[in-house]
Amino acid sequence: MTIRAYRGEILSVARDPRHDPDAVRHEADGLLVIEDGLVVARGAYADLAARFAGVAVERLPGLIVPGFVDAHVHYPQMDRIASYGEQLLDWLERHIFPAEKAFASRALADSVAAAFLDELLRHGTTSALVFPTVHAHSVDALFATAEARRMRIIAGKVLMDLGPEGLADTPASGRAETEALIARWAGRGRLGYAVTPRFALTSSDAQLANAGAILAQHPHVLLHTHLAENVHECAAVARRFPEARDYLDVYDRFGLVGARSVFAHGVHLSDAACARLAASGAGIAVCPSSNLFLGSGFFNFGQADAHGVRLGLGTDIGAGTSFSMMHTAGLAYQAALARENRLDPFRALYLATAGSAELLHIADRVGALEPGQEADFVVLDDAATPLLARRTAGATLAERLFAMQILGDDRIIARTYLLGLVAWDRDAGRFAAGSG
Ligand SMILES: [Zn+2]
Repeated sequence: MTIRAYRGEILSVARDPRHDPDAVRHEADGLLVIEDGLVVARGAYADLAARFAGVAVERLPGLIVPGFVDAHVHYPQMDRIASYGEQLLDWLERHIFPAEKAFASRALADSVAAAFLDELLRHGTTSALVFPTVHAHSVDALFATAEARRMRIIAGKVLMDLGPEGLADTPASGRAETEALIARWAGRGRLGYAVTPRFALTSSDAQLANAGAILAQHPHVLLHTHLAENVHECAAVARRFPEARDYLDVYDRFGLVGARSVFAHGVHLSDAACARLAASGAGIAVCPSSNLFLGSGFFNFGQADAHGVRLGLGTDIGAGTSFSMMHTAGLAYQAALARENRLDPFRALYLATAGSAELLHIADRVGALEPGQEADFVVLDDAATPLLARRTAGATLAERLFAMQILGDDRIIARTYLLGLVAWDRDAGRFAAGSG
């Protein structure tokens, strides 16, 4: 048994601070004690020092926060980030489907999965809900690579029997491959499975019904898909499913709306859909950088909050433009403000950590650095650039956090820890053994 302790400034937001003013937990001089990868104690150094007097303590300069949880991201798209010129449906056809077809190669999947997980760690992201491709081996590649790094990753083979040639499965093959992958990977180590129809337009009714049947048989897996991202997409969904009340109702009719359902985007939702999301316990992975990049719109925090919809944050690479969950939190603030709502920096941090963890049903394991949780955390450097150093000098905690959300990128991530051990060290320019 290995006990190690880290001393420094610690901040976490375990619950939505809109509902719980005590959710923000901050120790200006804190101690984080870790045994076998789990947090066993956390509090003010002065309170804990005597109890752990025999334990070697390492001082960490910077602000220690929980590892970030990316609630929606596509690993096969990382090399198509910053692709010019189109909104969602044309962007998929022109840039993304060709890139995903290349994942017929397992070797390509292995190499991109490794590069992708390295990017997550360099940006302080320790857990994620990930879209692979339609190829079952794209899931194997991601899970095997994540398992070697001991990262908490949830993913599932993309179902898209109405996809373009070279990317289309069938209802039968999609179901059989999904069942086999669940048997192979679900619940293994830190890995989890999500049944992953791409979105309503890329699956037949038969395949959507299959997805519902698989979910019903495997109560521990998630449902992960896209919802109401783009106005042209919404119009096409309404044309294909004239009997559905709204876009969410399409999924509801196939048994895909429940407490373990994660829908990316939700930019264009009716009040009835928001009410149904809240009642079912399903939630939205808000993806502000993607919504801006593809011209999809601004997520309506006011509407979602009025209905009590569960929310997390996603980068949505490759439509998103940054792997940084801090930068994504800053863009969520700007999206909220565009609709005259406010997203304070502590709630934004909550959404990027414990909020997304709740959405992914892993909040008992990660997201808040509470005793009993896995010790995934990040050391933030609020003086990572000359401008940040000027802006944060003498500033309050809220001001420092907000400045990092607006101005930050991978440079603010001094270190990333997985299960209490260094996984990325910025100043050394090095990943831990087993990575990189
Ligand atoms: Zn997406």
